[in-house]
Amino acid sequence: MIDVQVLVIGAGPGGYAAAFLAADLGLKTALVDPEVNPGGVCVYRGCIPSKALLHVANLLREARHADAWGVSFGEPKIDLGKLRAFKDAVVKRLTGGTGLLAKSRKVQYLQGRAELVDAHTLTAKLVSGGEETVRFEHAIIATGSVPAIPASLRVADPRVMDSTSALELPDVPKSLLVVGGGYIGLELGSVYAALGSAVSVVEMTDGLLPGADRDLVDILAKSIGKSMANVWLKTSVTKMTPESSGIRVTFDRQPEQVFDRVLVSVGRRPSASVPGLDRTRVTLDERGFIVHDEQMRTAEPSIFAIGDVAGEPMLAHKASHEGRTAVEVIAGHKAAFEPAAIPAVVFTDPELAWAGLTEAQAQKAGRQVTVAKFPWAASGRALTLDRTDGLTKLVVDPSTDRILGVGLVGPNAGELIAEGVLAIEMGANVTDLKLTIHPHPTLTETLMESAEVFFGQSTHVYKPKR
Ligand code: FAD
Ligand code: NAD
Repeated sequence: MIDVQVLVIGAGPGGYAAAFLAADLGLKTALVDPEVNPGGVCVYRGCIPSKALLHVANLLREARHADAWGVSFGEPKIDLGKLRAFKDAVVKRLTGGTGLLAKSRKVQYLQGRAELVDAHTLTAKLVSGGEETVRFEHAIIATGSVPAIPASLRVADPRVMDSTSALELPDVPKSLLVVGGGYIGLELGSVYAALGSAVSVVEMTDGLLPGADRDLVDILAKSIGKSMANVWLKTSVTKMTPESSGIRVTFDRQPEQVFDRVLVSVGRRPSASVPGLDRTRVTLDERGFIVHDEQMRTAEPSIFAIGDVAGEPMLAHKASHEGRTAVEVIAGHKAAFEPAAIPAVVFTDPELAWAGLTEAQAQKAGRQVTVAKFPWAASGRALTLDRTDGLTKLVVDPSTDRILGVGLVGPNAGELIAEGVLAIEMGANVTDLKLTIHPHPTLTETLMESAEVFFGQSTHVYKPKR
């Protein structure tokens, strides 16, 4: 029997960030997860392996494009085994590091699955066999999410993949159908396209990445249109039949076709089916997320919920911040999860990122905003990179000039958005951004110049204010 002050169930970026902070604050802490080390979906089969592959995909695209700059590398030879080994080594190194960090902080790591006995007791079914009972003052449920695959798309054939099996890179299929034009479909579809697959994307709605502003998506869609074989919008898969030659797929608005492989990436669902949860007062909403308040407290006073299992957006950085908030609350600090902006980044080429209020959200809410846009064709740095396919935009409150939202599309948008998040969190107005000296020549200047555009005074865009 182990007695702890804080017990964390699930060691993803939410759970391990929470456990580590709890230990740093001097609380006796245990962490339960089936993997050998902390990491969760993000590190083992999500953010990290996908970004390692996307890094290589970008290199392949750059190498091919270098022809235009007078440098020819020839057709790249891809050693799939070595590429897999690189990705796996990244995961192993990172999870080895989190394992060491847990040990150094004296977080008791139990490799197993948690089952709640009551609101203060849990049984960990250990991977090594046997079980351990843990008594806790507070528990944090951080069990994450799993792919949501509707029955119509569930086919028991290894050629029909989810993100986990697609990340294993079984081969480079000649043809790949990606069902769902969201984050995973576009990121992993880009990887396979760069490796040489003819990728077709089928998206049910009338545009890719339904949550992002259309002017940003349009720029990405142009590039996706060139790198992918097909992008079918407003189209659904009606049937998938495995055959010896491939997967026969029928659509509602396209002729049927046979694909070597299919990736189903139509969303994820919360992993809230922790055994024994019904022995507590924890409740779920209609979509299966654990209900909680802004301090991450559930209806059971000793139990908190954070990360993907606690609601959207299902993003690693949101999970970590929620985890740290829950621990601060447990430690008796005055804390709540009330961010002004949670950044979202799609790691395609170009990258697409946004934070705070989008223009579409403002329109939907009938909220008056002023939008200032700086096209990257006017950026010296973008020209030196031969990448003028970018746009930086600000969504501004016209009555206070306060920056409410920032959107970016272009290479490195995922790094650039952090400045926008800070501006929103600090309550910066457009003048603050305009007067902040940005280094030249960098893509960061596009943020400063979009603030200049707001006043009709951009050095590199002639657009007087009317
Ligand atoms: P998770 O990371 O899902 O971890 C939950 C852990 O709990 C798992 O290890 C699970 O095994 C464990 N668990 C479940 N039930 C039990 C139980 N009963 N007992 C013990 N343990 C249990 N987000 C980003 O921000 N950036 C990205 O670039 C990004 N890329 C992604 C790419 C892919 C392919 C995928 C699938 C996701 C990606 N995400 C990305 C989303 C990100 O992975 C999640 O938002 C994040 O992992 C959520 O963290 P979490 O701590 O809530 O849970
Ligand atoms: P998603 O919600 O991003 O996209 C799913 C897409 O599938 C949507 O565009 C939706 O309209 C479409 N769709 C739904 N049902 C369909 C159907 N039957 N046929 C065709 N299209 C259909 O989901 P995802 O790509 O599976 O990713 C899940 C979550 O994981 C994301 O929402 C995000 O929170 C997280 N994630 C984040 C990153 C990142 O931060 N870079 C990367 C990968 C995943």
